[in-house]
This record gives sequence, C-alpha cells and structure tokens, in this order.
Amino acid sequence: MSENILIAIAWPYANSEIHVGNITGSHLPGDIVARYHRLKGDNVLMVSGTDSHGTPVTLKADALGRPVEEVYKEYHAGFLELFQRLGIHYDLFTTTHTDNHFKVSQTMFLALQQNCFLYTKKSNQWYSPASRRFLPDRYVEGTCYICNAEGARSDQCDNCGNVLEPEKLINPRARTGDGALELRETEHFFLDLSKLEPEVARFLRQRADHMRDTVLGESLGKIEEQGLKPRPITRDLDWGIPVPVEGWDGKCLYVWFEAVIGYLSASVEWARLTAQPDAWKEWWINPSARAYYFIGKDNIFFHTAMWPAELMGAGKEFMQRFCEEQSVLTVPYDVPANQFMNLEGQKISGSRNWAVWGLDALTRYDPDALRYYLTINMPEMRDTDWDWAEFVARNNNELLATWGNLANRVLSFCYRHWNGRVPEVDRASLRPADVELLAVIEGGFESVGRELDAVHLRAALQEAMRLAGEVNKYLDTSAPWFEIKTDKDAAAKSIFTALKAIDSLKVMFAPFLPFTCERLHKFLGYKNSLFGEGYTQPVQDGLGTHVVLRYRPPESADAGEASPAALSQWRPGQLEGGHPLDQPAPLFKKLEASVAEQERVKLGK
Ligand SMILES: [Zn+2]
Repeated sequence: MSENILIAIAWPYANSEIHVGNITGSHLPGDIVARYHRLKGDNVLMVSGTDSHGTPVTLKADALGRPVEEVYKEYHAGFLELFQRLGIHYDLFTTTHTDNHFKVSQTMFLALQQNCFLYTKKSNQWYSPASRRFLPDRYVEGTCYICNAEGARSDQCDNCGNVLEPEKLINPRARTGDGALELRETEHFFLDLSKLEPEVARFLRQRADHMRDTVLGESLGKIEEQGLKPRPITRDLDWGIPVPVEGWDGKCLYVWFEAVIGYLSASVEWARLTAQPDAWKEWWINPSARAYYFIGKDNIFFHTAMWPAELMGAGKEFMQRFCEEQSVLTVPYDVPANQFMNLEGQKISGSRNWAVWGLDALTRYDPDALRYYLTINMPEMRDTDWDWAEFVARNNNELLATWGNLANRVLSFCYRHWNGRVPEVDRASLRPADVELLAVIEGGFESVGRELDAVHLRAALQEAMRLAGEVNKYLDTSAPWFEIKTDKDAAAKSIFTALKAIDSLKVMFAPFLPFTCERLHKFLGYKNSLFGEGYTQPVQDGLGTHVVLRYRPPESADAGEASPAALSQWRPGQLEGGHPLDQPAPLFKKLEASVAEQERVKLGK
C-alpha cells in the first residue's frame, strides 16, 4: 500500500547564501527521506520555498541599498542552483512572494478570525521620528532583559532563546540609520495561542512516542512549564502580505505567521502547475497522510506550536472559505528538527565568513562526497562539527575504501573476465556462504528501511555501510581474484553473489548518494533510472514572475496501470546471469590530506 508522505522543509530567508549547516539541518534530511519514500513507491510531495518577507530580508536590502524584490530574487536564484547541483529534489520550491501564497495566508488569517482565535490589542513599539516609521523585530537591538546578553533583537534573544517584549529591551538602538528611538502606540492582531494550548499539548502528547526528545523538550516541555501565550501576528511594515482587514493599510502579516502557511500554499501551487488543481488535498485533508517537517532547532516553536495552532484553529473554516469543502487540515506527523553543525569548533557565522557555503563547496567536491559527510555527521541529537580533516578522512576511509572500491573492483573484474556480462550462475547453485551473504544484505531493506522510517538517518547510513563491509569480508574469504586461476566456476559464483549484493546496496545507498548510485545503476546495465530530475520554470502571476524548481519523476518502462507501490525499487534488484553491464569507472575521488589545510586557511577571511 503506498502512503501519502508530505516532506515540508524550512523556508530559507533570502538574506544569505545557504551553508553546510543549513543543508544538514533541513534540506538534506528532507531529501533523503523523500527519496527513500519515492523508491518505496509512496506518493511523495516535497515542498518549500524562499522566505522573501520579514525583517531579515528588508534589513539586508537596506544594507545593500537595493530594492527588496531584487535582493530576494538574487538569493532565490542561488538556492535553485544549489538544490539542482546538490540533488535536493523538490516537487516545488517556490517563494512566499506569490499571489497564491498571499491568498492562502489571508484565507488562513480570516478563518482564524472567524473562529475567534484572533484579537486586536494596542501596544508600544519602537518608532523612529527621523524616518517616520516603526522599527519591528530585528531592526532594533539592545541588551536582553532576561539574560543580559548584548545584541538581543527586540523580538527574540538568540543567547537565551526567549521571545522578548520589544518595549522591555535595555538600551535599544536601531541597526539602520534611523536615529534616536521612542516608544509609540500601535495596534496589532494577536493569535490567542493560550486558547489553543490544550489542543496543541494534546497533539504533541499523541506524538510523544515517535518525536525526538530534543523536540518534545522544546515544545511540550516548554508548554507544560510556561504555557502558550498570545502572540502578535501583524507588523508595521510595507513589505509582506497585507492584513486582509479594512483600515489596516501599512501593516502586514508577521513573517512567521505566514511563512509556515507556505507548506500549504506551495502544495496548492504545485497542484496547479501539474494541472491537477485538487491534487494537494491528497496530503492536506487526508487523515492517513503523514507530514514530516524538516527544520533546525531554532524553529521548533513555530512548527510544533504556532503552525499546528493555526491549522487546528482554522478548523473547517479554511477549507470552507478556500474551496467550499468541509474538512480539517492535516497537522504535522513528525518534526524531526536537527541541532546545529559548527565549523572547526566554532559557530558558523556568515558575516565573518566562518562558513562552508554550499555552492562554493560544490566547485571543488562532488555532491555525493558532501552529502555523505553531511549525513554521517548530521546533528540529529546534538550539535556536531564540520572538520575538514575528518571530511577528507571519512571520504577516503569510508565512502571510497568501503563502498566505492567494493563496487569498482567487483564490476571491473567481472567486466574484464566475463566479457562485460553478469556471470551465468543459477541462484539455486550458490554455496552456503553465498546464500548467507545475500540473506544478510537483503535484510538491509528491512534494517536500513526501519531507520529511515524513524528518520534516524545517520544510523541508516551506518547500517548500509556496515553491510558493504560484510561484502568486503565475504570477498576477502572467497577471493575470486585468486579463485579464477584455479576454478572459474567458483569465481563466477563469488562475483555473481557480490554483484547481487552491490545491486541491493545501491538501492539502500541511493537516498544518501543519488548521483553515484544512479551511475552505478547504469554500470549494472539498467536502462531505467532510480530517480527523476529537477528543472526550473518561470511562473507568472499578478506580482510578476517567479522562478520555481520542480521535479520530473523517472520514466518507468512498465508503468501503465501499475500503482506506484507495484513499481517499488526498495527491494533486491533483478540482476540475472548473462545480463550485460556497462563499462565501469570509479565512483568517488580520493582527497589529498593537504585539502584540509588549504580549506582552513580560507576560513574567516
Ligand atoms: Zn536573553
């Protein structure tokens, strides 16, 4: 039975390029899980987009002295290029600056208002008399009134992680040239999270068996300790989504209120682009669909409290208003938030250039080499560290030595001695050691799959690597390279067995290492592909043109009427004796030890 799996990945702000910490935090784990479910034949929808609103983006544009629209589009274009080159296969990667997203977000707002979860309240905000504007959120910095850290933003302190009340900030100052600040009264809409607290807490408790402890602690733990408090969901800003209420000109929806709605609006946009405008409902009003949200630990509150509260608070009213249907929307199934990745022992900092930037790294290293290190070192339960010497060592000693060399030496040897074909061996004639190895390897579809189902990606990759080690041990014992000199039939059995094992391991490694597994798939003589491909497309609407990244599934020779589950590739391959192979070549490159020093001297410059 194929399942409907929604893979929702954090929306990157259009104020910085994407670095390895962002990749291993959300985009890569989401892609790995999506690829696994695609191989299994599940119905996967993977969406995200560029967060083009909010003060991080307007501040950046201010600093550059350029129009916001131009700045966000430039970063957006860089994101699309990175995802294509790194093989992050979004069904749709769009932006928040689209007519569609405006409409979906405003409908959500109105549904919450209708259901009495919104109220208005006057409060004091920092105002610049010189530039005659309010300065929300990141525009104002000062000393945190809770932990006394310097550089706290008026809405949040990164040091203690608390949400702050702007007017209590100590020594507030504008980050832009807006001169002296004063407090002025302004009115805003608030989402009454306290009313939704029982529902949100119940929702989290129901998921306590499969959610990460780190995520539960930051969500349910904090709610039980402090409760949920109402939060303002509008801002005094021009750039963003207008508040859909008369008399509220010059104010827009708070970026965090609307960015999370992007998962829903991107699904709607994807359905329209595929010319099946109702297709998004398969994931959004389907109680059996499972929605996974891949985010970093700094966004846990918004995905475990704010977004579920919006979805539950909207109730049937959203669908009623949006398409005149009576259904509730699907809440998250899991939010496997990752911790942070540091770099050479220090926090990654874009402004200090203490970072490994995704696009830059891809000019020197193959995507699968990067994907391997970013997975085996993924900060699933605690912060990890990108260490250049370790990157080189793991590439050479694990990826290349255990897996790449295994595939290459077996395929090359077979290609040379059996005229480019799989040896003609009947599976029934295999020896006990051969049968045993294949049973162990094929058990990986269960053991690696179980870890992937639980979003334990490091463990899943380690298990696949352990199995590759089992094939190496088998070959050390059977030694077909010597067997062939005395007993070609025995060597044929060993090589046939090793090829079958490699053919299965190729599928297990594929979610992690899609580029090299696709090449290996071709070396093994398959004519079809494991995965489809990404492509970009311009989309026009009332706000102009935005370019989106889409995904074209692989052509399937025997698709016809077959269900996706029937086409599952998450199972042992079909390789049989006599099957022609393609000329093999090495899958991975050895890296020189000097690479680490070369990379380290560039940091922080
Ligand atoms: Zn603080």
